[in-house]
Amino acid sequence: MASEQAGSRRGSGAEEEEEEEDFGYGLFPERRRGGGNGELMFVLIFFLDPYAKLLLDAMKNSGCTVFRDRHFSCEDCDGCVSGGFDSSTSQIVLCQNNIHYQSHMNRVVTHELIHAFDHCRAHVDWFNNVKHLACSEIRAANLSGDCSLLSEMTRFKFGLKQHHQTCVRDRAVRSILAVRKLSKEMAEKAVDDVFESCFNDHEPFGRVPHSKSDAKHAYRDFQNRDRYYRNL
Ligand SMILES: [Zn+2]
Repeated sequence: MASEQAGSRRGSGAEEEEEEEDFGYGLFPERRRGGGNGELMFVLIFFLDPYAKLLLDAMKNSGCTVFRDRHFSCEDCDGCVSGGFDSSTSQIVLCQNNIHYQSHMNRVVTHELIHAFDHCRAHVDWFNNVKHLACSEIRAANLSGDCSLLSEMTRFKFGLKQHHQTCVRDRAVRSILAVRKLSKEMAEKAVDDVFESCFNDHEPFGRVPHSKSDAKHAYRDFQNRDRYYRNL
């Protein structure tokens, strides 16, 4: 899966690396060298599920040009992170050393595409406003299916809806802590402060898609509506 092209600098427009602040790059060592390789991407795109296709279309319709080969970068990452969104280059990083299944890949792509969508549609201040980050993490966990498998397994133990909310909240907190040096309490507070509105913001799906066919329907709804544009 991994074929290294170490040192091949991808055209990010910037010749030099961004200011050496810790933007979570600690987990993505290849980011410092200008990104990894993107050769997996054409394979990946063919298998993209409806969630990811919908998001790619939504981005295009919002005026965010999506160049598939430039928007995704396959890299080896540290720890057990499986993906990231680099807002300085609008690139999605897929951790090829930590993703081993197509279904996992789809989930990571969808999760990160939601960050990319938020980045594109709103002026997200990722680094100075933790509530902005919290909101996007809530949406990514809620809409990507990160919590759906677990929900399936535990739906008979807990109320499905309640469990889904708890899962989304926990994952959002964990995602923030992975990329920011904050106390757990601060991350939890940021998530709780914006939870209500961000959990109920399902753009561009219109609702939380709970299955592949559901995502397909949401995708069709999306293609047929112009209501969307007025909400931007
Ligand atoms: Zn995330």
